[in-house]
Amino acid sequence: MNDILPGEVERWHRVEAVFRRMAELHGYAEVRTPLLEHTALFARELGEGTDVVEKEMYSFTRHGDELTVRPEGTAGAARAYVEHSIHGKEPVTRWYYAGAMFRGERPAKGRYRQFYQLGCEHFGDAGPLADAEMIDFVALFLRAIELPDFVVHVNSLGSGDTRARYREALRAYFTPLEGALSDDSRRRLANNPLRILDSKDPRDKQAAAGAPSILGLLDEADRAHWEGLLRHLDALGVRYVVDPSLVRGLDYYTRTLFELKTTAGDLGAQNTLVGGGRYDGMVASLGGPKVPAIGFAMGLERLLATSPLSAARPGPACYFAPLCPAGADQALVLARELRARGVSAEVDGRALRLKPMLRRADALGAKLCVLIGDGELERGVVTIKDLTAHTQDEVPLAEAARVLAERAGRASDPEARPA
Ligand code: AMP
Repeated sequence: MNDILPGEVERWHRVEAVFRRMAELHGYAEVRTPLLEHTALFARELGEGTDVVEKEMYSFTRHGDELTVRPEGTAGAARAYVEHSIHGKEPVTRWYYAGAMFRGERPAKGRYRQFYQLGCEHFGDAGPLADAEMIDFVALFLRAIELPDFVVHVNSLGSGDTRARYREALRAYFTPLEGALSDDSRRRLANNPLRILDSKDPRDKQAAAGAPSILGLLDEADRAHWEGLLRHLDALGVRYVVDPSLVRGLDYYTRTLFELKTTAGDLGAQNTLVGGGRYDGMVASLGGPKVPAIGFAMGLERLLATSPLSAARPGPACYFAPLCPAGADQALVLARELRARGVSAEVDGRALRLKPMLRRADALGAKLCVLIGDGELERGVVTIKDLTAHTQDEVPLAEAARVLAERAGRASDPEARPA
């Protein structure tokens, strides 16, 4: 779990702001659900046999409730969707969220126990157009944060009994190879053989190389959905690779699965920036009607580790250096007036001599430093030092807020010089 300090948090803000803006352009509205949900929600929806539920959840009992700190955002969003009968209010719902998730995984670069996800959930549209539009949105978002080196992987898990039939096909394929599998995968062979396909263990990778593809088992409706998705992606000019080994770690997925993996940076095995897919059965399994859905989530830490976007911590536009007690009162009043005009201002309250206060103004990157001492008060003025242009002048106190606001605005233009 990481502390995100000022100086670093500005990059988080930038990426979050791009995401919010783009999500809203695509019709998504923000939903905020609790960090805690009943443990049973995750156990049932993510699947008892999954790594997240089996090994990684932070769960506890309090006041007789078995609770879990959310390991992902989809189950909670779907729970809220059902609980508030959203399906009865609108036919299609687009929600986005941003927040912390918790998984007790083995920490590595790009894999943390508290991490932030940005995600979207789209309820009520069963067609492949929704899938393609979402994948295109994610690809556009990655480009918007200057992250061009990624590959879109897509696959389909089918629906109904496709998965069960595929499970049997995989069991038949892997059973003769059991001795060559990792311990984890030998265990998965009985209850969740799909997971062997996304194991990172080289032994499993080798054994899985000749495994049958689920795409061969799709029924007619699933195949029509899959082909529709590829057609829409082609129409949008989204480049993708069909990846039959893409199964993702949670049980709730149906039909479309997708991941966006970076080919840049040094995230190693943690190169999956974005993961998503359809979960057409979840709303009904939570007691709602049969409402199809698709969603994705991406880890902010991984985006930030790969994106070159930079953002500096903004310094105050005006730094006040009062040189006497009455000057300090005047500085407080002026600083408040500036902030009301939308100009950032900081008052040095340390009652120091000029030099250390100027040093601080420089270190913060302030554009203007305002000196108010006994001399200034007697003359009814303030002294304004322009720290970029290296000029200095006196301005009547009554004019000071207006002039400072004007110059602060102008100083952000590197060509500008005070009159
Ligand atoms: P998932 O919910 O497992 O499909 O993950 C979706 C995305 O969340 C991944 O592609 C990562 O970007 C991010 N993510 C998942 N688990 C972690 C973790 N432990 N630490 C950091 N990011 C994570």
